[in-house]
Amino acid sequence: MKDNANFIEKFRHLFLISPQCGSWTRASENCDYGDISTNSKDCYMLFNSGNCRNAYYSEDSRVLTDATDCSLCENCELCYECVDCDTCYDSNFCQDCTNCRNINFSYDLRRCNDCFGCCTMRDKQYCIFNEQFSKEEYEKKMKMFDYSNAAGIAYIWQKLEEFKKKNPRMYIHEHDTTECTGDYIYHSKNCHMCFDTRHTEDSGYIYQANLDQGTKDSWDCGPIPTVMDLCYDIAYSDYLFKCKHVYWASRLKDSEWCVNCMESENLFGCAYVKNRHDGFYILNEKVSEAEYRERTVEIKKILLENGIYTLHDLINKDLEEGKKDEKKRLELVAHSTRHGALASSKERERNCFICNDKFELVQAEIDFYKKWDITWPVYCPECRSKQRYALRNERKMYKRVCDKCKKTLISTFPNDSKFVVYCLRCWHENLV
Ligand SMILES: [Zn+2]
Ligand SMILES: [Zn+2]
Repeated sequence: MKDNANFIEKFRHLFLISPQCGSWTRASENCDYGDISTNSKDCYMLFNSGNCRNAYYSEDSRVLTDATDCSLCENCELCYECVDCDTCYDSNFCQDCTNCRNINFSYDLRRCNDCFGCCTMRDKQYCIFNEQFSKEEYEKKMKMFDYSNAAGIAYIWQKLEEFKKKNPRMYIHEHDTTECTGDYIYHSKNCHMCFDTRHTEDSGYIYQANLDQGTKDSWDCGPIPTVMDLCYDIAYSDYLFKCKHVYWASRLKDSEWCVNCMESENLFGCAYVKNRHDGFYILNEKVSEAEYRERTVEIKKILLENGIYTLHDLINKDLEEGKKDEKKRLELVAHSTRHGALASSKERERNCFICNDKFELVQAEIDFYKKWDITWPVYCPECRSKQRYALRNERKMYKRVCDKCKKTLISTFPNDSKFVVYCLRCWHENLV
């Protein structure tokens, strides 16, 4: 049986030498500047979006056409500087608007056309700062507003901000939800503090699960967790079942501490592998089931001793700091158990080891950790989420070559990146 003592160092080495994909944009044409987009054409600086045409400087959106500077929008055409808008046409500087046409500088409108500077209105036309006009009056008045230059825009923004304060707004952005907390949450139930999430159930701290389907019975997943069940500490992955501590993976089952793995099961500490359905793997090497069971228990102990609580820790944490953190955690646990099973809210309260803010473990989360044998967190939910976002590159583009086929690549990996970087095709073709 192999020695487990250097698992952390070995995983870090494996991670470092395994190729990274230089750009995840796929099934797209002329969208080289940007990342993680699909089925799009003629876009520039488009990130994490799908089915877009002529979209520029936009992100986290679906079905944009001739749109610029739009975030978290869906089904919008001829739009500029919009956030959280759905099915809008020829609209600029709008937020939280749905099914609208030719609206400008507006907030929370539904089924409105030809409105300017309006807030929280339904089924209206020809309104300016919520005041109703005739078509002729509206067109005449609209000539007064000049937003063709920065000063004009700044003036109208300021006026709108003042006006927005006077209009009551809903305390949450949701529809079709039951027993959920968080914001921008749709078609979901029993969710604790989930954001930009849809079709999610019995889960907590899920972020940006806004693709077709979210998660079920999972905690601490996102950004971009799509179709997950019984998962924990996952980012940029889809179709996972019973997985923990995974980054950028697809169709994995019963796997832990993995990066860049596809179509496999029973992986532990693996990177850049695919189609492993024939047994059990530790650090990309096949082992017997008995060895897998025995060694993974021991490795998990080693990870804890070194204060490795998350995938981000496994890749990045200073191990001396980690050992100190683990001492602190053990003191905390000893203190808690003296009082029984965390009966009072005092005992559920912790100070985050990273930012020192107070946070509280909620019952549903405790039940989940117990059931799946997960170490109760010592980082607050915000720091846990920040760690997962930090696993990826900044949204800056560099011109470089694929380290395999030498094709020119526009990538978020700079030329002096410590990683081996492949184009999407080479990355998939060389998965082992
Ligand atoms: Zn924190
Ligand atoms: Zn290549």
